[in-house]
Amino acid sequence: MRSFDALRYHQIHGLIVPLPPMSNRVRVRFAPSPTGGLHLGGVRTVLYNYLFAKKMGGDFVLRIEDTDQTRFVPGAEDYIFNCLEWCGLVPDESPKHGGAFGPYRQSERKPMYRQYAEQLVAAGKAYYAFDTPEELEAMRQQYKTPELPSPQYDHTLRLNMRNSLSLSESETKALLESGARHVIRIKMPETGTVSFTDMIRGEVSFETAVVDDKVLLKADGMPTYHLAVVVDDYLMKITHAFRGEEWLPSAPVHVLLWEYLFGKENMPQWAHLPLILGPSGKLSKRDGAKYGFPVFAMNWTDPKTGELTEGFKEKGFLPEAFINLLALLGWNDGTETELFSKDELIAAFSMERVHSGGAKFDYEKAKWFNHEWIKKASAESLISMVKEQLEKAGTTNVNNELLNKVIPLVKDRCTLLTDFVQQTQFFFESPKTWDLDAIKPKWNADKQAFFEAYIESLKTAHPTDAVTAEAQFKELAAAKNIKPGELQLPLRVMLVGGKFGPPVFDILLLIGIENGVERIQSCLTQLN
Ligand code: GLU
Repeated sequence: MRSFDALRYHQIHGLIVPLPPMSNRVRVRFAPSPTGGLHLGGVRTVLYNYLFAKKMGGDFVLRIEDTDQTRFVPGAEDYIFNCLEWCGLVPDESPKHGGAFGPYRQSERKPMYRQYAEQLVAAGKAYYAFDTPEELEAMRQQYKTPELPSPQYDHTLRLNMRNSLSLSESETKALLESGARHVIRIKMPETGTVSFTDMIRGEVSFETAVVDDKVLLKADGMPTYHLAVVVDDYLMKITHAFRGEEWLPSAPVHVLLWEYLFGKENMPQWAHLPLILGPSGKLSKRDGAKYGFPVFAMNWTDPKTGELTEGFKEKGFLPEAFINLLALLGWNDGTETELFSKDELIAAFSMERVHSGGAKFDYEKAKWFNHEWIKKASAESLISMVKEQLEKAGTTNVNNELLNKVIPLVKDRCTLLTDFVQQTQFFFESPKTWDLDAIKPKWNADKQAFFEAYIESLKTAHPTDAVTAEAQFKELAAAKNIKPGELQLPLRVMLVGGKFGPPVFDILLLIGIENGVERIQSCLTQLN
């Protein structure tokens, strides 16, 4: 077999392009198939790749794996980029960002793959298969047993099928020359084991006898994922391939392809990241709908069904909180520390500390992270996001200067960005309704008289700070012989509409005395 280790050129659209010089630079990749929403497990894969690359001073590549044209979903690629941008995990190289190893969309690399598949055939490691879909179906029917409900195309059956192993050389040649539709399949060894060292799981071995002869090159000339992932990881000089645990069963095929094509010594180091578990097994989109939490990074609308799946962004999460909580789903730094900024994660991250067992997603804990990050955030950094929430809720006259003063007063009370609506809306518009039930049970003529007098005193002694306003309120209460504690709740309800919000005299000063007086008056008329 010809060795490809020394292959210094690769072909793009018929051009011979020299490969960039060899180096020890760390290069990792996220290789999504753009088929729908980006699950939080997918974002965690991005995150671990990104953190590792940044820690090692390497490159983070995003490659679009779109070889299965039947699964093409319009908008899915842009959506992935939007999610990564929101998370602050922007690739160094991608179809959008360019780079020296492009194209970064597999569909645009189509002409590159056939030569590798043919090379494998020439070396006896793969073969042409001419079976029609009907013949494949007939095989499944013929060999299916209760113990083996879906027989595979593998070493036990391949000689019963129509391929270059079962046909004579001249029959194969004639079929190829006549342009017969065919695929190229890997010839899995009948015996032996394939093993590799996974950075998280250690030594992993597979019996080759139980793995089927996967298609490498499809009849339309497109590679399958298995061939494309290996060829591209090689051509893009990927040094570490981190992906979800669901890809572990495919690893023996990839390891063999590496060995056959490029030499096992050039293979990237693998790491298969633990599953993210929901309340019942692997966390799924359905869990999100069932339990009322998001599982996608951002809102995703399926273009076929119109079905909307909610995202963490729209639910009111900060990107800092989202990546922090994802980092801790399967990793910790060995201490009790839970709050990490992106830079702190880069400094602390190591693959050795990623667990192999499934990581349980806990939505209450996720919200805790968000609350902590909202508390940490500056008013300036929250303004535009809070404004967006208010606008969505119909409050459009938001004044940035006022909002900047309001946010520090209320942010400790907000777990999600959406909570800012209730906590800040009344600063910009008078309550539409008042929670009168909160006042009425203890309402009486004395209190009525107090508030009437309070209105007059506010009009004459216009307080200019919260401390003076509170002192004025208490003085009047003392003069009327009512405990101020009994009057503060009604005042709050009058100003904000309900039993919520920051300290009441701060509210009064920020909305303005005149505005406050109007609100007290309007509420009083409703209490009578
Ligand atoms: N295209 C695969 C996916 O959609 C990539 C798996 C890998 O990283 O090898 O997840």
